[in-house]
This record gives sequence, structure tokens and C-alpha cells, in this order.
Amino acid sequence: MPMYEFRCRSCESTFEVNRPMSASSEPAPCPAGHDDTVKLLSMAGIGGTAAAPSGGGGCCGGGCCG
Ligand SMILES: [Zn+2]
Repeated sequence: MPMYEFRCRSCESTFEVNRPMSASSEPAPCPAGHDDTVKLLSMAGIGGTAAAPSGGGGCCGGGCCG
């Protein structure tokens, strides 16, 4: 189940909610009970981790590639 991040405009806290995609656009009250929340771009839950390039070899920079 994807995770969505919300921000409360009343207490300016952020919180995460796990919910099905079909309910992604529905409002979510913050843990303190405020209803004035906005959905942030979710950075977790979908797509996994970003692939980091593996550096440190420097092969073609050192002339060992031919
Ligand atoms: Zn709040």
C-alpha cells in the first residue's frame, strides 16, 4: 500500500498516511485532529530507492581502458 505524506497547515506538522491509491486524493486529518492538510509529493513507498552511481573506479580517467 503506498504511503502519502501530508502537511498540516494548522500546526505545520508533517505526517504520513498509508492508504490505497483509490483514496489518495481524499483529505487526511493530522495526528492532532486538524482537517486543514495538504498532500505532499510522496517520496517513499513507490519506486524504491534511487540508484546511486558507483564511483571511485576512475578507470577511464587513469588510462587503463586502452
Ligand atoms: Zn495539525
